[in-house]
Amino acid sequence: MDNLAVARALEDLADLQELSGVAVFKVRAFRGAARAIEGLSEALAELTREGKLKDVRGVGEGVARRISELFETGTIAEADELRAKLPPGLVDLMNLPGVGLKTAQQVWRERAITTVDELEAAARAGKLRDLPRFGQKREDKLIVAIEAWRKRSAAPKRRPMAEALLAAEAIVARMLDVPGVLACEFAGSLRRRAETVGDIDILVSAADGDHAAIIEAFTGAPDVVEVLGKGDTKTSIVLEGGMQADLRVVPHASWGAAMQYFTGSKDHNVAMRTLAVKKKLKVSEYGVFDAQGAKVAGEDEASVYAAIGLAWMPPELRENRGELQAAKDGTLPKLIELSDVRGDLHMHTTETDGKSTLEQMAEAALRAGRSYVAITDHSETLAFVRGLGKERLRAQRKRIHEVEEGLGGAIRIFAGLEADILADGTLDVEDALPELEWVVGSVHQHLKMTREEMTKRVVRAIESGKMDCLGHPTGRQIGWREPYEIDMEAVLKAMSRAGVAIELNSTPSRLDIDEHTARMARDAGVPVVLNSDAHSVRELSQLRYGIGIARRAWLSKEHVLNTRSAGDLQAWRAARLS
Ligand SMILES: [Zn+2]
Ligand SMILES: [Zn+2]
Repeated sequence: MDNLAVARALEDLADLQELSGVAVFKVRAFRGAARAIEGLSEALAELTREGKLKDVRGVGEGVARRISELFETGTIAEADELRAKLPPGLVDLMNLPGVGLKTAQQVWRERAITTVDELEAAARAGKLRDLPRFGQKREDKLIVAIEAWRKRSAAPKRRPMAEALLAAEAIVARMLDVPGVLACEFAGSLRRRAETVGDIDILVSAADGDHAAIIEAFTGAPDVVEVLGKGDTKTSIVLEGGMQADLRVVPHASWGAAMQYFTGSKDHNVAMRTLAVKKKLKVSEYGVFDAQGAKVAGEDEASVYAAIGLAWMPPELRENRGELQAAKDGTLPKLIELSDVRGDLHMHTTETDGKSTLEQMAEAALRAGRSYVAITDHSETLAFVRGLGKERLRAQRKRIHEVEEGLGGAIRIFAGLEADILADGTLDVEDALPELEWVVGSVHQHLKMTREEMTKRVVRAIESGKMDCLGHPTGRQIGWREPYEIDMEAVLKAMSRAGVAIELNSTPSRLDIDEHTARMARDAGVPVVLNSDAHSVRELSQLRYGIGIARRAWLSKEHVLNTRSAGDLQAWRAARLS
């Protein structure tokens, strides 16, 4: 059972509890845990074995017990009991946009409706309008919502890049151990680091002959729940959690051509083939061939591109957004690398909702090669995570300097804060901010505003002169929360005027800002800050997901503020404050 399956089981439990009338605060714990687990970069099964479950943010005693039960028995007894008492279909009904718990209970009790089909039929027949808080308008809205829901559930599910990356890396490591495998890598949209991934493409190169052992190693892994087809050079599997992975075994002489072909994107490959045709060449997954059918390239990717007069392009650029022209002209950007990142300017500690202490975070960041960090716990408005007010901030600052000294100055630790941008655009604990060394301003509450209101709110915070960086600027959570309405162009303009940076938050479920806004920021001259927003030492490594997005946005080292030295960062900040 993988993390996603556990998250789903906890969500199910929460749904069933809610429908059965269990106290709201109990239900909330399970939902929070499910979300935290979805974004987790370690396998929960392993953490359970090591008895480290409770180190995970959002996982308390009750949740940990259910997770252990899941791993032991494959099910949660409480969920099974609740389900047996409720009509089937009711959970789907409750999760329908525009329905929710109260309406689901209402139509169930008063109209004996327990499925989406029944609800739709009743709405179309006008049989709901006389219910309290309903009316014809609500009926019409419901019909539209159900139609959209049907369309969405028919579409193939895409999973967050981080989940696909971890699964793919595990497969590659396994395949490289199989005798006869000469090379193994993943290709497709994952290699291009798309923020979500439909399925995983794995390529293996092997000598000619029997590939049975290779195919067997791929389909026989313990996390395979279904084998979709088995050939001598091609097979597909479904992993726990529902992701599909396809394996292709290719001859070594075609390795580069196959990697190029299966990495895509489709648009990139079409444009590339058009260029090839002009040179009387043909490109396929087997190689580049001249008019006589003789192979002129294919063993490595660079040779494939070189054959049609192009420089090799990093996979993240291959979206037909100008990279082919740049490769021809020799003007490809030098993309940022993870090793360029010198600091991490957004992280939490046990002082608020983090799982690791200040010392642990600083030591782990140092081990990871960072030369500076900013400790940015939550501010006082977020009372449910014990957000910091002025007094506690002052105490934390003292501790920060002690820890810094304790580490012999090997790492610079900036005293910071993730200050809430309040509904009116002022910053939380405003009068404490001038004493701090790094302020991230973030919107966490009151997300339902009009585009105008939200833009005004955020711009006001930017113009306050009291924040350095806008945190997770759209609030989106991939797969479960849409970005809030905001005029990003106006926000970037305000930032450029005020000398404020924009965050690319690397939490796998956020990746906020996305590649399009990151490119806009670059073009607007607004510096991007690549942050982990780590809530534990483990999550410091999340930067590697954000790097993929930064590269897709054509960002180089100079576009990203935290590639600078600590001194240069302070100088950048001082210029704004002067
Ligand atoms: Zn935040
Ligand atoms: Zn944060």
